[in-house]
Amino acid sequence: MSVTIDAGKCNGCESCVEGCPVSAITVDGGKAKVDDDTCVDCGACAGTCPSEAISQ
Ligand code: SF4
Ligand code: SF4
Repeated sequence: MSVTIDAGKCNGCESCVEGCPVSAITVDGGKAKVDDDTCVDCGACAGTCPSEAISQ
């Protein structure tokens, strides 16, 4: 399980990177990417995204 990031909405602000307790998110080329193997599906990142790009 993992969250889904809508690349069209993501602006690369990195709020979700700081909000993830297990450091599952990286921003590469201005877009956030989730490591599915690391993500524990807690949903914390979705609340940090100003663009509502993250869905669970
Ligand atoms: S759902 Fe939780 S563990 Fe997964 S990427 Fe978001 S903050 Fe990190
Ligand atoms: S918080 Fe949202 S807009 Fe910012 S990098 Fe993460 S997914 Fe992209």
